[in-house]
Amino acid sequence: MDLKKLSHDELVQLVKDKKVGMADLTDAGICPTCFDRANNNVLFGNNDDKIIYEDDKFECYLVGNPRAEGHVAISTKKHFKDMMEVDDEICETIFLLAKKVMNLVKETYGAESVYLCTMCDGPMNHFHLQLIPRYSFEKRGSNNFVKPRFEYKEDKEKIKTMRNALNYKPKE
Ligand SMILES: [Zn+2]
Repeated sequence: MDLKKLSHDELVQLVKDKKVGMADLTDAGICPTCFDRANNNVLFGNNDDKIIYEDDKFECYLVGNPRAEGHVAISTKKHFKDMMEVDDEICETIFLLAKKVMNLVKETYGAESVYLCTMCDGPMNHFHLQLIPRYSFEKRGSNNFVKPRFEYKEDKEKIKTMRNALNYKPKE
């Protein structure tokens, strides 16, 4: 199926029916993140409850299928395919934000360290950074980047602590 030949409404419906997923959009050169944001979170679902910070440039949220408690992603509002495409100003700002959030996650979750990675490979993707905590009971090293994912469990207190520290007021 050539997704590019479908009408916009047909494509949205196929995503709603889960007949077209993230990888299909990526392969068709359609950014899943921008598609999701432009279409009322039809692909990933509403994540307002997981957002710990947002401004006109960035969105920072707890990952829905984390590799560690406190696994956070920061994505840009503007579309960039990967880090190699990002303009210098956004690049500087996102790393300063990442540093702040890494310290906050470390403190809030009692992690021993927080790792940072960004990949965004494939024909189409949306630039984001991943911040993955490493706890004292875990070995140091790159295996922490590929720890098995598990189901997200909401911790309202920790979310509140981080939102307050970042001066973020959640949407009502
Ligand atoms: Zn995008």
